[in-house]
Amino acid sequence: MKTFDIAVFEGDGIGPEIMGPTLDLLDQVAATSGTYALRPQIAPAGAAHYAKTGESLPEASMDIARGADAILLSAMGLPDVRYDDGTEISPQIDLRKALDLFAGVRPVRITPGQRTPLKLDGGQHIDFVLIRESTEGLFFTQGQGAVTECDATETLRITRATSEKLFRFAFRMAEKRKAAGHGPGHLTCVDKANVFRAFAFFREIFYDEARSFPEVTPAHAYVDATALWMVEKPWVFDVMVTENMFGDILSDLGAGLMGGLGMAPSADIGEDHAVFQPCHGSAPDIAGLGVANPFAMILSGAMMIDWLGDRHDLPQMVADAERLQAAVDTVLADGTTITRDLGGQANTAQAAAAVADALGDV
Ligand code: NAD
Repeated sequence: MKTFDIAVFEGDGIGPEIMGPTLDLLDQVAATSGTYALRPQIAPAGAAHYAKTGESLPEASMDIARGADAILLSAMGLPDVRYDDGTEISPQIDLRKALDLFAGVRPVRITPGQRTPLKLDGGQHIDFVLIRESTEGLFFTQGQGAVTECDATETLRITRATSEKLFRFAFRMAEKRKAAGHGPGHLTCVDKANVFRAFAFFREIFYDEARSFPEVTPAHAYVDATALWMVEKPWVFDVMVTENMFGDILSDLGAGLMGGLGMAPSADIGEDHAVFQPCHGSAPDIAGLGVANPFAMILSGAMMIDWLGDRHDLPQMVADAERLQAAVDTVLADGTTITRDLGGQANTAQAAAAVADALGDV
């Protein structure tokens, strides 16, 4: 039996409240399958840890992350705990840089029973993935922008090396979704190539890479039109790939379509490491009340076992990820055991227990 080491960043605020039930569910799924096991190792980090020890991401925790097969993270940061320069503690961003996690994966799915601001008549199937480049683009000069009394400058940087890795990752994802029956095999490059030379360069590399993936249909779209279409006709998308800042904005739009941050899972993936975490923060306003929605965390855990299964050629793990996602879908569709942010009355433990029950039926 294969055992995977999982670095666990429980984080701040609601972090530990949603991580506990997620680890229990992942254990339940692995135990039922009997072909693999997960060995979690807690990695202390975050704002509360900084307040206590003066360190936000200790080297020992980085070592746990580097040595693990995958990293599961809840949420970190507390608005009142800051470095001396006034910025917030955000080890999740430090991890992204240190481990070169260039592909930010943000799935957008709307299933029956899910709250969405869209007016759907039931005939449309919304299931697409946004891939956000996460190490360069307009974030290249993060923290180093030049500001004078008269002007301010930041630099957008796009490199061939990172773009090639990013596009290969995105094409493979479109291929994989097509093979699994989850999408038609379309990949859209989202850019602003009509105005900026850097995006014309980005798009040219995209079409160069497309030649190696004949099973996938490549397309391109401008970011402004994409924002409009995500609201008007989101069912036309399969996989889209974009620059860091554009992806930052579009992924929150995607979370909004899904009824809020409590439903939005994510992954930050590189060639050697990957972090799986919900899109939301530590929600200090509800921390300690036991009412946080655990679904985005659970769905991030499902993404982790899907990624591990794919990477290690263990189809049982990929199937288990689908089971866990289907169990969350079942609870949402039933609608009687959902948390307050989704319009229900259940607390975190009850919502997670409903997923555990549903796992037996899917
Ligand atoms: P937030 O996502 O923590 O909260 C925004 C709102 O959404 C709040 O009203 C909160 O109660 C609600 N919410 C969020 N997750 C929820 C859940 N699972 N269930 C129910 N309701 C939920 O964003 P914020 O308030 O801007 O940030 C709080 C802290 O989290 C800050 O310190 C911020 O820096 C940090 N943060 C961390 C991450 C991360 O770790 N990836 C991401 C965003 C923010």
